[in-house]
Amino acid sequence: MSYDTNNIFAKILRGEIPCHKVYENEHTLAFMDVMPQADGHMLVIPKSPARNLLDADPTALGALLATVQRVAQAARQAFGAEGVLIQQFNEPAAGQTVFHLHFHVLPRSAGVGLRPHTGKMADNAVLAGHAAKVRAALGA
Ligand code: AMP
Repeated sequence: MSYDTNNIFAKILRGEIPCHKVYENEHTLAFMDVMPQADGHMLVIPKSPARNLLDADPTALGALLATVQRVAQAARQAFGAEGVLIQQFNEPAAGQTVFHLHFHVLPRSAGVGLRPHTGKMADNAVLAGHAAKVRAALGA
């Protein structure tokens, strides 16, 4: 399976469609998931093309994981979460629906269930507010 340059996250990286940006550096971008399974659900992607973890350049993974860690720490603080779930799916059989490598970052607290994967689209204003909370925790 090859990388499709027209996938939705490639379009976000090219600025062709909007996102609620949380953090960006030279190699990575973090933004809010539009169908959040938990308040503060974010996605972290590399700027370099990769379909998923299976074909990714290993040299891109250090920067990617560093951003995952950074936004996970900020999300825990911003949402007062007790923990943070990191998820990453490879190929449709494993649940992948967008074919540009991404890590899910989900703030979690005991007794608060997850909403369905690719479930309901969240309100734009709510996502904007959540992105602002995480950016504030990042000191951005
Ligand atoms: P996965 O099953 O790991 O490929 O998940 C893809 C994720 O991308 C899902 O959680 C979707 O809610 C999310 N998603 C799809 N389109 C967008 C978009 N335009 N902006 C932000 N998140 C998106």
